[in-house]
Amino acid sequence: MRKIILLFIILLLLIFFIPAVFSQKFIQTSSLEAETIQNTTEGQENSELNKDKYDYKEFSTIKLLHKNDNWVEEISLDDYLLGVVSGEMPATFEQEALNAQAVVARTYTLYMIKNSKKHEEADICDDSNCCQAWITKENRLARWEEDVREENWSKIEKAVYSTKGKVITYDGEVIDAFFHSNSGGITETPAGVWGGTNYPYLQPVETSGEDAYSQYSSEVVLSKEEFKNKILEKHQDLNIDFNQENCIEIVDYTESNRVKTLKVGNLNLSGVEVRTTLGLRSTNFTFNFEGDNIKFNVIGYGHGVGMSQTGADSMAKQGSNYEEIIKHFYTGVEIVNL
Ligand SMILES: [Zn+2]
Repeated sequence: MRKIILLFIILLLLIFFIPAVFSQKFIQTSSLEAETIQNTTEGQENSELNKDKYDYKEFSTIKLLHKNDNWVEEISLDDYLLGVVSGEMPATFEQEALNAQAVVARTYTLYMIKNSKKHEEADICDDSNCCQAWITKENRLARWEEDVREENWSKIEKAVYSTKGKVITYDGEVIDAFFHSNSGGITETPAGVWGGTNYPYLQPVETSGEDAYSQYSSEVVLSKEEFKNKILEKHQDLNIDFNQENCIEIVDYTESNRVKTLKVGNLNLSGVEVRTTLGLRSTNFTFNFEGDNIKFNVIGYGHGVGMSQTGADSMAKQGSNYEEIIKHFYTGVEIVNL
């Protein structure tokens, strides 16, 4: 009987302790592996950035040009970024999208300081058509309803402070982090917009869910006369007969299916010029004649290069974090600590 009891006790011990020992070992192994992986990543991150070229102290304060009154303000990088993130992206967007915007804005700022000669007396300006949008905290708060002010501002602060010092690099260099509002489903190469050379990290990439945003589609209706006059302002040699078939015709498309060249009468105009001249939101457009009018249906908003802001929000809604969002829009990049 004793033997049976003893066997029973041993059996119980085996049942309870062996899995415990194994799982303990397993936990230890996993956390060790995790630590090793983390260390390796950190090691790689540090070696990725050219530390001689990018010294954090150099970027702790920046010179911001206020375009309205031509005043140059010395401002801490973090305070500047709070104004950019809150000026560039709706605070209602997902936290991870705002975090991505903060890292992109920081990267863009550093790139400008190192590489741009746009402004002689300043590093960067507060005009979104020239550099990046920027807004004071006071003005930002005033534009929000009172009951969401605190929550919105804490999201902006979290985006900037939780990603403090993080920038995007390719081959050890800070990238030219273009961004725009809505890609219409696929981003564009720089050469597709401005000509010249492409960057390896700015490739066309597809993003789902962008059609859920108001920035996705728009239309512009012009009378034939209005259309003709707008083109004539820049091209006095325009000759167009609206009675002729194909008097306006899309000649070719960019890699991401945006209009590269539009034939207008006797002229071949670039899609980018047509966009600016007619005030279209992007170069991804079709058109049709409706009686005396020409109607342009436009997809997406902005030049289409780099990160799409609504695309970032759409990805965040589908579970992506800011690093995944950034690595989706910028091909082959690293996110490193400055
Ligand atoms: Zn500027």
